[in-house]
Amino acid sequence: MLGWLVDRDIKPHIPVLDKSGRTEGTWSRADFEWDPENSQYICPEGEPLKQFRRNYSDPNRKPTGKGVARYQALKHTCQACPSKALCCPKADARKITREEHEDARQVARDIAKTRQYKVSMRLRKKVEMQFAHLKRILGLGRLRLRGPNGPNDEFLLAATAQNLRKLAKIFPAPQQTCKA
Ligand code: SF4
Repeated sequence: MLGWLVDRDIKPHIPVLDKSGRTEGTWSRADFEWDPENSQYICPEGEPLKQFRRNYSDPNRKPTGKGVARYQALKHTCQACPSKALCCPKADARKITREEHEDARQVARDIAKTRQYKVSMRLRKKVEMQFAHLKRILGLGRLRLRGPNGPNDEFLLAATAQNLRKLAKIFPAPQQTCKA
């Protein structure tokens, strides 16, 4: 979805599910530099992590660029590396995965640091609260009307009731004074 939006020049104000961070203090994927020209990561020690190291003569065996790709450093390089304890203390060599639409995911991550993103998240919560209210308070957890127009009519009526309720709160009915 993120790839589809970014391809069409639509700014995705969408939180990215990201499990690349590490909690035990070792280097996470953000510490590695992506080299798009050679389709590889460069580790903080300057070594490449590649998806494939062979030159396949058969084009069908080459990387497709689909799905999740796994990049790996050479085992003997990592074994001799002075930073191994900070990078991959429990593995023979460091591996990093990269999603098919990682560039689009990075666009979304960059947007998530902006002030506009905070505003859109606040507005989004406001809208979602209305749906939660419809479901929980106004009992619209299940639609009762059927047919091609049933759900449309039901939502329209429920939204009208919701708006009237809000208006009543903003403009309360004038209190009637008792005449002695
Ligand atoms: S352990 Fe391997 S991948 Fe990690 S910094 Fe050292 S050489 Fe690079």
